[in-house]
Amino acid sequence: VKLSDIGEFALIERLAARVHNVEAGEVIVGIGDDAAVWKAGGAYYIATTDTMVEGVHFSPGSSSWGDVGWKAMASNLSDIAAMGGWPPYFALVTLALPAKTDVETAEALYDGLAECAREYGVAIVGGDTVRAPQAIVTVALIASAKLHAGKPRLLRRDKAQPGDVIAVTGTLGDSAGGLRRLQEGPAASDPLIRRHLRPQPRTNTGAEAAQRGILCGIDVSDGLLQDIGHICERSPVGAVLQAADVPLSAELRAAYPKDALQLACTGGEDYELVLVGRAPIIEKMAKELTSERITVIGKIVSDPEHRVRLLNDNGEEIRFERAGWDAFR
Ligand SMILES: [Mg+2]
Repeated sequence: VKLSDIGEFALIERLAARVHNVEAGEVIVGIGDDAAVWKAGGAYYIATTDTMVEGVHFSPGSSSWGDVGWKAMASNLSDIAAMGGWPPYFALVTLALPAKTDVETAEALYDGLAECAREYGVAIVGGDTVRAPQAIVTVALIASAKLHAGKPRLLRRDKAQPGDVIAVTGTLGDSAGGLRRLQEGPAASDPLIRRHLRPQPRTNTGAEAAQRGILCGIDVSDGLLQDIGHICERSPVGAVLQAADVPLSAELRAAYPKDALQLACTGGEDYELVLVGRAPIIEKMAKELTSERITVIGKIVSDPEHRVRLLNDNGEEIRFERAGWDAFR
């Protein structure tokens, strides 16, 4: 059996089954969420790691090395945001590069990492440099959780309940639209391309959502339908989304009017947040938050099959060929 036969998520399940954590009482959230959470002393720490590989996640022809560095840091910050994590943030960075790489390339990559780190208040405190056949950047990021009555306030994938509403930050599909633009040929200073190359993770919103008592969330990294699918499997529940409510930017609608919805629902790499909670809490936050919009797009239902159903205005289900990104397919 090959990895491509079973896919990324079945692989994660198989690997998790081989792990036997001792002192599990100190592990609050283990394998299977956006980040891990553990208790040490009186504090709760949140940690995640993410890797970008040349030829898989980026190609030097269409993004600068600085962009690669930015995105490597940003994708990790997004997973911290998806747990409701708070600063200070500490990062370890592993760079794998061919020996023939120009020194300037390595420096440019690190400048992008450092620029994102500075913008979000991340201290890069160490890492590793190794030789490899192609460029690979791995960032590991550590944050902490705020406490409430001695318990950590977290956004978890397994806390959705029937009756909860589902909301998303910002607009979706811009990154996938930007990628398509890049693949079509050179197009400088396009806002969609900028969103693809320089995503802005929602760390403040994630932290505030957790602070306000929202219990469930995930970031849109693989594709909206697939990411909400992870919540449905873990909670376990179903989700019903209204296609007309999925927030699309004017730029995306103008660039790809026919495909905008599909890009928004399956494209991924938006690094926006999905927030799931009781309607009054979500609606209050949507009203009071000024930094970006929060849009209610659907609700959680009970469903033994844990389906994510996207409906048009007539209540008919819209289906796409794939729900999102799988690392091995
Ligand atoms: Mg994530």
